[in-house]
Amino acid sequence: MKLPKIPPRIKVKNKTVYEVVWVDEFTAPDTLGECRFDVRQIALKIGQSDKQEFKSLIHELLHAICEERGIEISHRAIYQLEEALFYILFHNDWGKR
Ligand SMILES: [Zn+2]
Repeated sequence: MKLPKIPPRIKVKNKTVYEVVWVDEFTAPDTLGECRFDVRQIALKIGQSDKQEFKSLIHELLHAICEERGIEISHRAIYQLEEALFYILFHNDWGKR
């Protein structure tokens, strides 16, 4: 099962693009990703496994989606959706049509 590669810029909705940046470390040592709404950036920690990296991206994208579309859900729901989306992306073969 192959995961798609992470693009440097992700269009979240019309005229709304988040830049993906990579950082060595966050202030909190166990942080793997961060969504910066003010500058529209998703920061990901370097050195995660491919799977964990993709999960972190999905998680931060969900934060971006909620922010940009005015969706209010709990952080627990973000984690649940992260898990659910990751499962679908990972366990299906997304070939070309
Ligand atoms: Zn979060």
